[in-house]
Amino acid sequence: MYIVNKQCKSTGSNKIQYTNENTSHLCYYQYQYGPFDDSLDGLTTMKLHIKSILYITLCCVFTQLAHSETQSKEELNVYSARKEAYIKPLLDKFAEQHNVQVNLVTSKADALIQRLNNEGKNSPADVFITTDAGRLHRAKEADLLQAITDESVIQLAPEQYRDPENYWLGLSVRVRAIIYNDERVQLSELSSYENLADPIWKNRICVRSSNNIYNQSLVASLIAHHGEEATQSWANDFAVNLARKPQGGDRDQVKAVAAGQCDVALVNSYYLGNMINGSEEEQAAVAKVKLFWPNQSDRGAHVNISGIAITKYAKHVELANKLITFLFTKEAQAWYGDVNLEFAVIEGIEPNQILESWGPFKADTLNLGKLGEFNANAVQIMDRAKWR
Ligand code: FE
Repeated sequence: MYIVNKQCKSTGSNKIQYTNENTSHLCYYQYQYGPFDDSLDGLTTMKLHIKSILYITLCCVFTQLAHSETQSKEELNVYSARKEAYIKPLLDKFAEQHNVQVNLVTSKADALIQRLNNEGKNSPADVFITTDAGRLHRAKEADLLQAITDESVIQLAPEQYRDPENYWLGLSVRVRAIIYNDERVQLSELSSYENLADPIWKNRICVRSSNNIYNQSLVASLIAHHGEEATQSWANDFAVNLARKPQGGDRDQVKAVAAGQCDVALVNSYYLGNMINGSEEEQAAVAKVKLFWPNQSDRGAHVNISGIAITKYAKHVELANKLITFLFTKEAQAWYGDVNLEFAVIEGIEPNQILESWGPFKADTLNLGKLGEFNANAVQIMDRAKWR
């Protein structure tokens, strides 16, 4: 066999693709089986022959190595409603430590739940990551998750922050805080979520829509503590106190308070942290507001989680358990504080500077499984209260 043609484009059959070292062009060497070209002298023909054999052998070895490398790596498929920046660095670290390949799909939580539902048994997903216990409950109710059975994994999350049947575990904590404008609000006026239904707050509150899961979970926690009737009465009075029609996201509520459109707002704590590190406009807005931890003299502030679950048809359950274990290490938990500006769920993590500046808080100890359980009732209550 010897080289009869070299072209820097496709030459049909019997070709081997390689990258030309000098030109970086893709070229093809065409080989021909049969007697050597008579026009070449014996030595040149032999050199070409040896070169060809060496080249083909090396190609085979490298192809085989590359193939076996991919094949030997176990794969884990992660569906995440957390933005890539908030989860990929941790997944990369895990992949490196365990010499595995982690494939990440990110989208909105409800879109991923729909996707898991559509894919059914054929879903490649092993793990589902999302924010808010209410959403994890939705996935559980839709029969898209499996219970975690490894006791050493279950015990990693404090009981309060895990599903009562171990279908999901909380990875990080966020607080639904009250944000206020201290030029228009006396600190002594603030106390609890319940107090925001008092007529003293008439036309002074900003909040996002009742479609939002964070508000639904807050109302679900009120149902868990006070019952439906009392929560309905609270929601009716709270909705009357709104300064404007519910609109925008949590950051927009901070901006509205800063701009004097309202005096107080309900906002998840990490948004405030992200705005401190955000654009000039966000930094200017956040500088004009203050954070208050509600219900500190009774049950504690309403908290929620970002969490993780193993999907019903996961094909790599053991590796999924390893990932969960990794996400509860001190290293991963501290990372959450630094990057996502959320609180760790495990003890002994030094809070980052921004989190520390907000001071300590007492968290409501309600099991977060209740948030999903009462979600539908919460939505009905908000609808009846005309909290749009
Ligand atoms: Fe959020």
